[in-house]
Amino acid sequence: MTATHDSRFDAVVVGAGPAGASAACALASNGLRVALLDRAKFPRDKLCGGLLSQRSLRIIGDVFGSCPLPIEFRATSAAVFVRDALAVRVHDTTPLHFTSRRQLDACLAAVAVARGAHLLECSTVASIDFTCGRVVLSDGRSLSTSFVIGADGAASRVRKLAGVSIDRRGFAIGLEVEVPRDEVRRDIQDAEVYFDVAEWGYGWVFPKRDTFTVGVGGLATENADMQASFRELARAALGAVPAQRVCGSPIPFGNFVTRPGHGSTLLVGDAAGLVEPLTGEGIAFAVLSGHYAAQAIIEATRVSAPSRALDSRSIGMRRRVSGCIVVSRSSSAFISPSPLKRPVLMSPSRMPSSLSFSRACSRSASSSA
Ligand SMILES: Cc1cc2nc3c(=O)[nH]c(=O)nc-3n(C[C@H](O)[C@H](O)[C@H](O)COP(=O)(O)OP(=O)(O)OC[C@H]3O[C@@H](n4cnc5c(N)ncnc54)[C@H](O)[C@@H]3O)c2cc1C
Repeated sequence: MTATHDSRFDAVVVGAGPAGASAACALASNGLRVALLDRAKFPRDKLCGGLLSQRSLRIIGDVFGSCPLPIEFRATSAAVFVRDALAVRVHDTTPLHFTSRRQLDACLAAVAVARGAHLLECSTVASIDFTCGRVVLSDGRSLSTSFVIGADGAASRVRKLAGVSIDRRGFAIGLEVEVPRDEVRRDIQDAEVYFDVAEWGYGWVFPKRDTFTVGVGGLATENADMQASFRELARAALGAVPAQRVCGSPIPFGNFVTRPGHGSTLLVGDAAGLVEPLTGEGIAFAVLSGHYAAQAIIEATRVSAPSRALDSRSIGMRRRVSGCIVVSRSSSAFISPSPLKRPVLMSPSRMPSSLSFSRACSRSASSSA
């Protein structure tokens, strides 16, 4: 992967996950000089179930072209459990593809590099001078640029530096562990989903080539002890709590930012809160939002009006990204809490603030469509 010593760029993309790689890919393909920064060195791990829906596969294909994706497992059946009781098993489903984010993200970043992006690994953004367009790294290096894209994940530093706020009560917490196949006594070929192990969320056992990804996620404000939920899931799914260290990460849960950026800085993917809260799917929205941000920058560059990028991006975004998330957010109120708790949890005083927020967005999306 390439590095560069010339520090002047048309755009600096912070974060080389799916959102950043997508943005960098489109910008570089259109002849812009783009730096794709990441604090990590690739390949790097990223906590994720690694489920690529048909939507994700289609969008990745549209944006990155026909590069072979590192698919580790393909399931054609799924099982839904309520705690440890099997509720339903569905055979011959549309294939569910599972990837390792370690491999997938390296693959997508490599496509961006092949299109001409300059990948700067081990490069952590420390501060940004928005008035003179200067991105300063924690090791003292600095890059000058006309545009910044914040693709640096749920805890985005760019978002904070740009002064954009996100509803923190709207985050979920996800806990996961990779369990080697030979440590699991059952032969699992299905994608397994477990309800009633977390409030406003669910657990999962996703098959990979050599492991199972075992995880649980749910709205942080409704799950005071997510570790206990994880242990409950593990006992239900595996019969015992695995010895491996459990890792955790925040997941945006419908609390997306309605004006994702400031001036010529644009936020994409998890940094903009773009995860579908029913399923936790975020890869598709990360790729799509990165692509829209890049298109908006290309257009703003063409007409020499950098400040227009944020607004011109919002039309496609509302139709294909935030509109989807709003619908899912509203549906989750009817599906996520366990049936006995629904009347209590759905009373207006208990409803997550992002739900009433999503209703407002829903009204504005339909009025502007
Ligand atoms: C437990 C869990 C399970 C999930 N399961 C699924 C799933 O099965 N399917 C699905 O579609 N989605 C899933 N998601 C959501 C999905 O992982 C995210 O939506 C997706 O990774 C968002 O991509 P992104 O590019 O916006 O951010 P990320 O993938 O988080 O990438 C951000 C990048 O920014 C870099 N970075 C951060 N800070 C800095 C900095 N200051 N300077 C430089 N670089 C920085 C990081 O190193 C990282 O590489 C899951 C999430 C979690 C937490």
